[in-house]
Amino acid sequence: MKRAEKQRQIEAGERVRCMVPFCQRTSKLSDDERARPEIEWQWVCGKHWRNVRPIYRRAHSQHRKKYGAANGSPFWRKCVEQAIARGCAT
Ligand SMILES: [Zn+2]
Repeated sequence: MKRAEKQRQIEAGERVRCMVPFCQRTSKLSDDERARPEIEWQWVCGKHWRNVRPIYRRAHSQHRKKYGAANGSPFWRKCVEQAIARGCAT
């Protein structure tokens, strides 16, 4: 996909960028996510997700499973923090 098209989708709220600064990876929002535009959806790419300690990844995904992705998870900020702290922008 062309860069310009990705940028258009990001601006239209159809696509999100990885939370790690300068990471070029993006993800298309699912239909469920797009149905809730009031939520500021955030995403960490697979590469940077691996920087997060497994204990937090597990806590986060268990919380999501239990309460639903739209309700946010108290572990998300910590996961993002670690993804950024230990991530290099490649
Ligand atoms: Zn990333």
